Amino acid sequence: MKKIYSMKQDYYDILGISKGASADEIKKAYRKMALKYHPDKNPDDKDAEDKFKKAAEAYEVLSNPEKKSRYDQFGHQAFEGAGGFGGGGMNMDDIFSQFGDIFGGAFGGGGFSGFGGGFGGGQRRAKGSNLRIKITLTLEEIANGVEKKLKVKRKIQASGTTYKTCTTCNGMGQVTRVTNTILGRMQTSSPCPSCGGMGQTIDQKPADADAQGLIISEETVSVKIPAGVVDGMQLKVTGKGNDAPANGIPGDLLVAIQEEEHPTLKREGDNLHYDLYISLPDAVLGTSKDIDTVTGKVRIKIESGVQSGKILRLKGKGIPSINGYGRGDLLVHVNVWTPKTLSKQQREFFENMKDDEHFDPKPESSDKSFFEKVKDMFS
Ligand SMILES: [Zn+2]
Repeated sequence: MKKIYSMKQDYYDILGISKGASADEIKKAYRKMALKYHPDKNPDDKDAEDKFKKAAEAYEVLSNPEKKSRYDQFGHQAFEGAGGFGGGGMNMDDIFSQFGDIFGGAFGGGGFSGFGGGFGGGQRRAKGSNLRIKITLTLEEIANGVEKKLKVKRKIQASGTTYKTCTTCNGMGQVTRVTNTILGRMQTSSPCPSCGGMGQTIDQKPADADAQGLIISEETVSVKIPAGVVDGMQLKVTGKGNDAPANGIPGDLLVAIQEEEHPTLKREGDNLHYDLYISLPDAVLGTSKDIDTVTGKVRIKIESGVQSGKILRLKGKGIPSINGYGRGDLLVHVNVWTPKTLSKQQREFFENMKDDEHFDPKPESSDKSFFEKVKDMFS
């Protein structure tokens, strides 16, 4: 007779790891699968949900040294019989309450993202999920710091929602499960699946509230952006994510910084670069030019006889260090623009000068090569 349990997929295969995988590799593999098949990312996708559950079940066993060694020895048979994972596997509440923190706040909108500090008796306070928002800042805003008012849609506690003691766990927040295994009876405690460990369930809620008694509210959140932030950086506004039910701890609002490209200034760390093009006559005779900076235009003097490739350093005209250690510089790269076409008269002028020794290049030690200048810039 063919045994039913042989139909079940191997836990190592589910997570895509080898039998010899370390605890860290198992965790990493699970995190990867869980993020890939997370219900927030795959709404109404039954197949993804199945894979999500299977991965959680595999991780539940393989992350527990005792269960892992039983599984390694006996395979799925180790958990057959009363209770365990028999056929149904883990439910979503189990997964989130046990492994919610593996997502590290990677998802919003899904209600509970984990649990905050507990208060006795196994009861826990739910934590609302984090919200994520991207904002694009100009280089000027980054250089000077800015306060932004962000419109955020967050879930808040609907007024009129009331709670009652959870009947599954009698308010304890935990359930104890006795499982018969071939190695004897096992007693395990886990957060209550009915109330998610809070010890309370919703008694009454307004019709427009969701299953957790929350409604969406649009709010304006003021965020102070410090000077010197970097593209990709994430700022946290504590408590401005989704509310949690039953007076739980609200999640956080995570603000991801994007830097808008500046038309003339290029950022490199805290330094800025500006390409200045001057004409041949200006290079020969000297001139003054207006340069863009993050605090407005400044006029700089170009000495007569300036060489193309010269870098002028405007100290402190760059971006302030996010750590508060001073400010970067603005490096102005001088480019002498050579005309591509000439009038007859101009052509005659340059042809007359062609053999004039005065125009022969005579680099001085102060006219450093490009590579020496770059070396100087970073020293
Ligand atoms: Zn309960």
